[in-house]
Amino acid sequence: MIDRRDVLKLALGSAAALTSPALAQTAVKPRTRIVFLGTKGGPRVTTGASNPANLVMVNDTAYVIDCGMGVSRQLVAAGVPIPSVKYIFISHHHSDHNLEYGNLFYNAWAAGLSTPIHSFGPRGVEAMTNAYWELNRFDVETRIEDEGRPDPRKLLIARDINEDGVVLQTSDVKVTAFRTPHPPITDNFAYKFETPDGVIVFSSDTAYNPKLAEFAKGADVLVHECLYVPAVDRLVIKTKNGATLKKHLLESHTTTEDVGRIAAAAGVKVLVLSHFVPGDDPLVTDDNWTEDVKKNFFGRIVVAKDLMQLALPV
Ligand SMILES: [Zn+2]
Ligand SMILES: [Zn+2]
Repeated sequence: MIDRRDVLKLALGSAAALTSPALAQTAVKPRTRIVFLGTKGGPRVTTGASNPANLVMVNDTAYVIDCGMGVSRQLVAAGVPIPSVKYIFISHHHSDHNLEYGNLFYNAWAAGLSTPIHSFGPRGVEAMTNAYWELNRFDVETRIEDEGRPDPRKLLIARDINEDGVVLQTSDVKVTAFRTPHPPITDNFAYKFETPDGVIVFSSDTAYNPKLAEFAKGADVLVHECLYVPAVDRLVIKTKNGATLKKHLLESHTTTEDVGRIAAAAGVKVLVLSHFVPGDDPLVTDDNWTEDVKKNFFGRIVVAKDLMQLALPV
């Protein structure tokens, strides 16, 4: 198991090597890495972990997966220039995954973007993009006229995904979408990134779905959402709509025990737990997140934290 300190040590180690002249000859910057930008499931903004977003970097090109509130700030905090984002993938249209979609693009434009960003997601991404330009027409047209900026509306190329299959293929990556149920939402996609240094699968939010294990078969890294049932019980006691909330959470997410089942069936090398539900309960420790996973999965487990990086190959 890799714990947080090991990964941070690894990240800090390589950063130090890159800046040390003595080691510069031998240091190799990871060509491929994942940065967990926001790890707290759900739309509520807190001072703790940021809302859902992930980043894959391959050869300095940034691929953002989900745009929860805070994604732009988290990219900056990770030292990734926002205009280096070339591709955005939205898993589904819960707001903790798309609330900052338009604004992430806007923030790239504000930081000097001059090349297109391609975005992909379930039906609605194209409409959301058009609506964004309506919402921000005054500012955008003023800045084009007044500041001589390029027209951003030509730089964001959105595409709705309607079915499973390859959505992007470049010289660096092949990205495949796979529909997975997240009741009541059915337009919801997991994404597989085949990179030169290994295969990464992001589960999206999902009910327990054994078919996802087939999709992730043999992946190097599986980043899976997770639900910790004892903490949900604590949460619902405090909530007026507690019973309904619990029913929704159990039907639409995957318990830690079932996440272990998926990772074991897929035979992944590293399982990363993220999109924690609940993501802001101080009583839940890293050991709590992994204890039931370990009943079924005996490989390496990472409990993701905001801004943690994982270099590939693993
Ligand atoms: Zn979510
Ligand atoms: Zn969701």
